[in-house]
Amino acid sequence: MAEVRDQLNRPLRDLRISLTDRCNFRCGYCMPKEIFGTPTHFMPREDAMTREEIVAVVRLMSQLGVHKIRLTGGEPLLRQDIAPLIADMAEVYGIDDIALTTNGSMLTLALAKGLKAAGLGRITVSLDSLDAERFGRINGVGVRPAKVLAAIDHAAEAGLGPVKINVVVKRGMNDQDIVPLAERFRFTGHIVRFIEFMDVGMSNRWSLEDVVPAAEILQTISQRWPLHPVEAAYYGEVASRYAYDDGAGEIGLIASVTQPFCGSCTRARLSADGRLLLCLFADHGVNLRDLLRQGVAADALLERVTQIWGARGDRYSELRDPRKSQPAKRLEMFQIGG
Ligand code: SAM
Ligand code: SF4
Ligand code: SF4
Repeated sequence: MAEVRDQLNRPLRDLRISLTDRCNFRCGYCMPKEIFGTPTHFMPREDAMTREEIVAVVRLMSQLGVHKIRLTGGEPLLRQDIAPLIADMAEVYGIDDIALTTNGSMLTLALAKGLKAAGLGRITVSLDSLDAERFGRINGVGVRPAKVLAAIDHAAEAGLGPVKINVVVKRGMNDQDIVPLAERFRFTGHIVRFIEFMDVGMSNRWSLEDVVPAAEILQTISQRWPLHPVEAAYYGEVASRYAYDDGAGEIGLIASVTQPFCGSCTRARLSADGRLLLCLFADHGVNLRDLLRQGVAADALLERVTQIWGARGDRYSELRDPRKSQPAKRLEMFQIGG
């Protein structure tokens, strides 16, 4: 394995793969339904990477230091071949951690068990509110929190726990849900991760005023249940960890806006149509699917990706200045996968 370092001396460790740009939810901060009301915005199915193509990219990236894969989307559970795909990836030498991020609405117990058996190690389920009316409005399609809570139970029962629960916090959308969500998962072993609303894409009408800073979230929770910081579990961990003083477990805070972590960003991203993207705020990337379909040889591909990572200097969040206009063309979160 040849370790590669970018211009800021960051190694390549993780690959986030968007399995589809489609989703059955219409969360306003990601895929607002006023804009993404019809399927015409999504890519044609033949543009999506096939299972074989995805596995070929994983094999290639593993030779450059990737050991961790996160499957995301859009909604990754919309992919019918997800279990065999995970099984194929789990066979790749060097891949020791496969995780999945899902909205949970389609995760049955049988599917959770099937994914575990295929080689899935961990799961993150997104849930922004426990209030049925508010959650239905946030996800845009009226899905109830009970459904997502059941998915979390299924994941745990299938041996995919402790489950991480992603909560995007947006001012005026769900700031009142911070304490109830923290409370719901105390003493369960699951870890709630509160994420600052990010300016990904061009459609979610991001504004700095809508960002609830992680420091404020921490203060809100610790006023009720005191917390203390915990060491990061590994280099490049994006969430800052805090444990409850009373032993009820821990939470995570992802402060991408107020405390960016570009300095230790070891992630590359593969869009559902095969583009290799090096930053969440990228607007373009070399299309590996095209290169594979053109029959480019494995060692030539390896050299190409080595050069791409070696030239990388992205640190969008560290340079972000909300007073200045942002790049004119940013890909949407559901295209990149978060
Ligand atoms: N559909 C799956 C889900 O929602 O879990 C996976 C894809 S989704 C794009 C991945 C994660 O990104 C989710 O936890 C979602 O809440 C988060 N996300 C989406 N848009 C965001 C934004 N503008 N700011 C912060 N997080 C966002
Ligand atoms: Fe779908 Fe996830 Fe985006 Fe919500 S955050 S619209 S569930 S891709
Ligand atoms: Fe990595 Fe780009 Fe996010 Fe910085 S802004 S942490 S470089 S993905």
